[in-house]
Amino acid sequence: MTKDLIVPAAEGLYCPPGNFHIDPWRPAALAVITHGHSDHARWGSGAYLCHEDCAPILRRRLGDVRIETLRYGESRDIGEVRLSLHPAGHVIGSAQVRIEHRGEVWVASGDYKLEADGVSAPFEPVRCDDFITESTFGLPIYRWRPQAEVMADINSWWAENARAGRASVMQAYGLGKAQRLLKHLDANIGPIVCHGAIEPLNQIHSDLGIALPPTFNVGALDKAGLSRCFALAPPHAVQSGWIRRFGDHSDAFASGWMRLRGNRRRRGVDQGFALSDHADWPGLLQAIAATGAERILVTHGSGEALSRYLREKGYDARPMATEYGDEEGEAEPSVHADGA
Ligand SMILES: [Zn+2]
Repeated sequence: MTKDLIVPAAEGLYCPPGNFHIDPWRPAALAVITHGHSDHARWGSGAYLCHEDCAPILRRRLGDVRIETLRYGESRDIGEVRLSLHPAGHVIGSAQVRIEHRGEVWVASGDYKLEADGVSAPFEPVRCDDFITESTFGLPIYRWRPQAEVMADINSWWAENARAGRASVMQAYGLGKAQRLLKHLDANIGPIVCHGAIEPLNQIHSDLGIALPPTFNVGALDKAGLSRCFALAPPHAVQSGWIRRFGDHSDAFASGWMRLRGNRRRRGVDQGFALSDHADWPGLLQAIAATGAERILVTHGSGEALSRYLREKGYDARPMATEYGDEEGEAEPSVHADGA
């Protein structure tokens, strides 16, 4: 029996032979970061190591911290292990962490999705012996339609509202989802408004060479412009006065959780679009198979259910407790979230 290359510790997932943590939820000496969502990139560690496109997001969120970066596929020796980062397809700069030690290979996936979104580098399977997978949507009910179809629905919804003279207000989380929507909106329909909390993240994407359509501050549009606009805001802004600027409008939410009708009702929006930055059930199974790994450790989401299914398929699989899954990206909406 070789020793585990990644084990749970008080601070988070720990690599003993490398003496570093991956996405620690408490301060650690060295934090290897898979991506910039708030549940994976937390404040207080002595130094951070991440993909170079993740670094500006970390700086914005964590301030003046010590950050070293790697490109995809570039490797670095840390302690007794060789570490490299590989595209996870989740948000810009997101990475799977590959760790090699004496011929054994482990991969920690962070969050990932298989469908190319046009914004983040597409997911690449990495061969390994042990694979740590997320399971945010690890139940067979979660199956996504292709992005092109969902975006066509979103653009039709916007066009219909614009014809009727009302704004289309979309709740979407600021990092990842917002830029993916922007990238695939049909900007010919009308002007696009972004809430002030999203704009700095758009700027980071633009600086990294991701072309996004022009966006406006809500105050920059007259009544006619607002009546045809598509507006993007983080969910917390929708409860604020910001939303009143639009007068009569239609509202929507874009999230994998919108796959379930009840969640849409609880969000109290007119429309729910099931668009997720996480793998769906077939995606999880496909990614797991592509690694060639025999041992699967399942983190946040439906860890028990996915582990049980994998064991039936002959894998050595078990859940691994973590404190992820409450990211700004895809936390399951609480039944009591809005009372609507
Ligand atoms: Zn995430």
